[in-house]
Amino acid sequence: MLNLSIFLEDSARRYPDRDALVLGETRLTYAQVNGAANQVANLLVELGVAPGDKVALTCPNLPYFPIIYYGILKAGAVVVPMNVLNKGREVTYYLDDSDAKVYFCFQGTPDLPMGAEGAVGVEGAASRPEFIVITADPAAPSPVPGARTLTEALAGKSPVFEAVLGDETATAVILYTSGTTGQPKGAELSHTNLVMNALTCNRLFGSKPGSDVHLVTLPLFHSFGSSVQMNAGFSMGATLVLLPRFEAGPAISLLQSEEVTFFAGVPTMWWGLLGAFDESVDVAKIAKNLRIGVSGGASLPVEIIKNVKETLGVTILEGYGLSETSPVATFSDPDREPRPGSIGIPIWGVECKLIDEDWNEVEGADAIGEIAIRGHNIMKGYLNRPEATAEVMKDGWFRSGDLARRDEDGFYYIVDRSKDMIIRGGYNVYPREIEEVLMTHPDVSLAAVVGIPHESHGEEVKAFVIRNAGAAITEDELVAWGKEQMAAYKYPRIVAFVDALPMTATGKILKRELVD
Ligand code: AMP
Repeated sequence: MLNLSIFLEDSARRYPDRDALVLGETRLTYAQVNGAANQVANLLVELGVAPGDKVALTCPNLPYFPIIYYGILKAGAVVVPMNVLNKGREVTYYLDDSDAKVYFCFQGTPDLPMGAEGAVGVEGAASRPEFIVITADPAAPSPVPGARTLTEALAGKSPVFEAVLGDETATAVILYTSGTTGQPKGAELSHTNLVMNALTCNRLFGSKPGSDVHLVTLPLFHSFGSSVQMNAGFSMGATLVLLPRFEAGPAISLLQSEEVTFFAGVPTMWWGLLGAFDESVDVAKIAKNLRIGVSGGASLPVEIIKNVKETLGVTILEGYGLSETSPVATFSDPDREPRPGSIGIPIWGVECKLIDEDWNEVEGADAIGEIAIRGHNIMKGYLNRPEATAEVMKDGWFRSGDLARRDEDGFYYIVDRSKDMIIRGGYNVYPREIEEVLMTHPDVSLAAVVGIPHESHGEEVKAFVIRNAGAAITEDELVAWGKEQMAAYKYPRIVAFVDALPMTATGKILKRELVD
């Protein structure tokens, strides 16, 4: 019998007065957050939500997110978090696909437009079983006809609730992901999947109870933020300082003022932080408190690791995983020096191997194969999609769609996502390798490499590059430099300088958009 929500309940018992959530001037203790989550659970029971029913949630990183997420879990129901950038049509798809009984949705505000579409653009919103609008101002009236606000719905609800304990393999959360191919599918993660991932992460992070302060800029609707920061943090009685949208300036201010000890980000967030350090920043103060920095979600360029070490004295630890793997599958080995460019070794209780298209293991020192993963972190499957599940799961192994190699000490290195690999004139070109080389050029700040259609080569290698401030290098000069550094079949023939790169809400570079 298990319920992931014990993390919150246990910390509320041990550290009732410790800050659990901080957003600007708002500070909520563990006792307050637990009481509010209990109110949500009582509301859901009153609405007839039974254990196993799905409850959808669209909300940026505001205290409402963890409160509602844990309230749903306490009721024994299944959380379906959604990307805050979804449009009404997409929300309708997720609500229908998951058969959600209740939908909590933040109504955007001019400064925080996220979620606005989700609230107003849902087909047949009013006729859905229950649609509850989260307003930025708790006293504001409902902007959606026929739907109550969260404040109205929670009025008079008891802050006491006994969490429903179910089977440990019961589904706790459904994360929509496109996986390696096709339409978004709901990855079903069990209570055991998520409890084990959070606890294993804490062990790797060397977390101590009641002491960490996390800066949470990763969106909590995504597995990286929800598992590595929210669930792992709640289980240890950590304080979560929320930032609804990543911006380097405010993030740096919070690192200083809140004495943050733990920061996790995707590589573009680390890159953004580095770019915003100037004389006004109290680097010594940040460095004194920050005990751990984590990166994941995309390949972390070695140049960024080097620069963060030089600036803050922190070695970024790298993790790797997917929504389907709860998400952490590998992590830097806490007992050995981190190896830059490596995603580390499988976490405790998880195995990895490299396979070919037919699930056969590939061997050899330099062999490149698709990472397959087995262990307590693997999803139950994709909701109502046995065929899609069978494509990626076999004998307990899950195939990731990511190409990697393994060194003689068992450390894994992501070579690239199989779908990002470029085939130029019959040669396999891995964009990540080219990006790493380009970023060693002193004028290059960030690079993203894609394949574009080419008449005779099939694909041509093109680099989108953000230059360092004041850099004068031209596109032709960078092509010529690349030619000196890399083999003829792989150096980028086309370079385009840009001011920004398109990114997902999580901060991953959208290569598909660059190709288009
Ligand atoms: P998601 O399901 O949104 O978490 O995306 C999972 C994908 O992110 C993986 O299949 C990888 O392609 C990528 N990813 C996650 N962590 C890393 C990492 N440390 N290095 C490279 N790619 C990563």
